[in-house]
Amino acid sequence: MTRWAVDTEATTQYLAEMVAINSVNPSLVPGAPGEMQMAEWLTKTCTDLGLNVIIQHGTHGRPNVIATWLGKGSGRSILLTGHMDTVSVESMDIPPFEPRIEEGRLYGRGAFDMKGGLASILGAIKALKDGGFEPTGRIILAFVCDEEYASAGTEKLVKEIKVDAAILTEPSEMKLCIAHRGFAWLTLTTQGRAAHGSLFDEGVDAIAHMGRVLGALEKMDAETLSKRHHPLLIRPSVHASLIQGGLGLSTFPDACTLQIEHRLLPNERGENILALWRGALGKLSQEDPQFHADVRLDFERPGYEIADNAPIVQTMREAFTDVAGKIPEMSGMLAWLDSALLGAAGIPTVILGPGGAGAHAAVEYVELGDVHNCAAIIAGAVERWTSLPRENAQLQV
Ligand SMILES: [Zn+2]
Repeated sequence: MTRWAVDTEATTQYLAEMVAINSVNPSLVPGAPGEMQMAEWLTKTCTDLGLNVIIQHGTHGRPNVIATWLGKGSGRSILLTGHMDTVSVESMDIPPFEPRIEEGRLYGRGAFDMKGGLASILGAIKALKDGGFEPTGRIILAFVCDEEYASAGTEKLVKEIKVDAAILTEPSEMKLCIAHRGFAWLTLTTQGRAAHGSLFDEGVDAIAHMGRVLGALEKMDAETLSKRHHPLLIRPSVHASLIQGGLGLSTFPDACTLQIEHRLLPNERGENILALWRGALGKLSQEDPQFHADVRLDFERPGYEIADNAPIVQTMREAFTDVAGKIPEMSGMLAWLDSALLGAAGIPTVILGPGGAGAHAAVEYVELGDVHNCAAIIAGAVERWTSLPRENAQLQV
């Protein structure tokens, strides 16, 4: 296999130009510009690289950019993907859209999460093009919108695309990430009885009863969830997020509402969590006939896991070892990623992205050396993967 020479200057330039574009997600920050300018820049850059580019228009003008390099034979197809949007720039301590390079790091909003990963994809394609590579299988680049809010971009993408594997370049700190946790949002409500504050034998205090629910939540986390182990994801967890209740100082509260978030292991689903809560609330009602509460599952995103001997993982491991001179560390990410949607659509996905810091924080930067190494690893993986014969003929884009 060839070691592809990455044009480090061009790759850094790609990154700097992308960081200079404001692509704050407007679903997070009303009035923010979103991904359109990124989509225009990527369309031009991918066209200049000789790829066929289409823009997939989503709801409210939110675009995905899909760039294709057609293969000349029947090798396996691969998707290289990442999100164009970033979180808010509020409370940042550095100019968000004026990329600055210092001691091998590039600073700015989105440098780490995840324009560094997007630059690695572009750097890999440039390296392959510069080296005269002619793919046997199809290479598809997908730059998606809205990952930081509802993942509308990848949801749309997976409906219209079929590929044999994917590399997602979220910042994995140069580890090969093969698992991440999911999450579930639930609402718990306690029902009391409203009464004048003086009427101690009439009123039922829904807020005090919620205290028992909070006690059950701490117990569930400490005694039940802490015992569920995963080699890469450690354990599932739960926390209380938002609470509301009360009618006035001199009134027994009639109801109290608590919204909570569970973080799930890949084999856990919202319905399992719902059953756990029904059990816990049932126990509290048995202890006190005046205790009334119910629980509702509002939203869930399952986690993701791929076997560490899956073909795409092996391909990435080989390409990584070739470039880095050492076997990659396998990792899991505690946060949720779009790979869950890709995996659920039947696309085996592995995550590799550069190191850095400050995703969603006041100072954000990415390690440029990692961005360049990632590009070399992706180029090597693309060469290996697309030269493998396809196992079963799937429909392509
Ligand atoms: Zn991200």
